[in-house]
Amino acid sequence: MKKMRLFFLLCPLLLSGCGNQAQDGRILVYASCYPVYDLVKRVAGENVNLQCLVSQGEPHEYRLVAKDIAKMADAKAIFLNGYGMEGWYDSINTDFPSKEAEAIKANSRFLSDGIATLKIDDITDPHLWLDPTKAIQMMENAAKTLTQIDQKHALQYAENLQKATASFVALDQKAKTSLENLSNRYLVTSHAAFGYFAARYNLTQVALNGISPEDNPSPKEVEEVIATIQKYNVKTIYGEEMVSDAILSSIKEATGATMKELYTIESRPEEGELDYIAMFESNIMTIQEGNR
Ligand SMILES: [Zn+2]
Repeated sequence: MKKMRLFFLLCPLLLSGCGNQAQDGRILVYASCYPVYDLVKRVAGENVNLQCLVSQGEPHEYRLVAKDIAKMADAKAIFLNGYGMEGWYDSINTDFPSKEAEAIKANSRFLSDGIATLKIDDITDPHLWLDPTKAIQMMENAAKTLTQIDQKHALQYAENLQKATASFVALDQKAKTSLENLSNRYLVTSHAAFGYFAARYNLTQVALNGISPEDNPSPKEVEEVIATIQKYNVKTIYGEEMVSDAILSSIKEATGATMKELYTIESRPEEGELDYIAMFESNIMTIQEGNR
């Protein structure tokens, strides 16, 4: 009997820890995947309790579980990338019919709002963050929402945005200068994540897989990629940390090209403390070597 009473006493305490306010008084905010988290974090600083739904592993195909709904329902805002990066979003109301799912929909904000997009095979490419100038626009969208939901830190958000913008402008300039004089401008990648990057730095992306890394290429598509590699004398194929490289290895054998790894910045690396800027800088160096 004693135990029961104690449980009932504890219950309201536990519940109160899950409201809009985090236990330390900060508001709870969610990011759908790592790139969204990294960009929002730069603007939010330590003012909000920012959580990431899918920080490691493949975000494109992530399936929501009931636990996620419970976690996100209390967030004041849920930041998403958009354009299919969150495959779970459209069916959240039918998969989890509940007040919680409705709250998540109502509080969802897309960082890609109002930003010009590209299409690959008639599908809008979701990887906007790989163009730092678009990443800046995404941070501006984050700042707008954070200012609305947390007016008292408005000045801080404006300052953080200004600082982050300056570092992304510098990063963009560095990429421009570093990639200006490559002898080969074909970027052969395993996953079509580098469309915006290629457009920004005047490269041509030849992708083996589609926009989602799980779209496997047909034998004919593999042959076409091999033909492109041979025709344009491509020396390097860029894999990524999350894709199985069985097909890549066969192309490597057929063409003699070597493989290097690029970060799509889609997930937090399993080792080390690399953030967006560190991964982007590593990509610049990798391409400088692979396409020189
Ligand atoms: Zn991707």
